[in-house]
Amino acid sequence: MAASIAYKCKCGKKYHIYMPMARMTKQLPSMNETNMEKAKEVDKENIASGEIGVIKKYGLWVEANLGEPFVDGSIVENYQCKCGAIIDLDNILKRQMDNTPDSSEGCVLSVTDVSSMQRRSDVG
Ligand SMILES: [Zn+2]
Repeated sequence: MAASIAYKCKCGKKYHIYMPMARMTKQLPSMNETNMEKAKEVDKENIASGEIGVIKKYGLWVEANLGEPFVDGSIVENYQCKCGAIIDLDNILKRQMDNTPDSSEGCVLSVTDVSSMQRRSDVG
């Protein structure tokens, strides 16, 4: 199941980030070769099934309507907020799991999966 991460920068600006499963899996303590292979398969399936399309559509909707930029982690290495802070996509989950969110840094607010995006009537 593909998902989008809502992230709040230390300056308060919110972003919606799509992270491919393989890139997320790399950050997990349980990361190993088998899990990576599985994650890559899931990414392929998500593209084939159109889930990634839904995420991008949702991301662009949020950007247009809420002014919260959409960051595509399948093409963006790292993202720089207008305040100058770098959103380190390769450590975004890791830091969260290490439970070291401190107020001087950004943090993950929530993770939204595709099925709940599809339930929103305003996002096709
Ligand atoms: Zn910022």
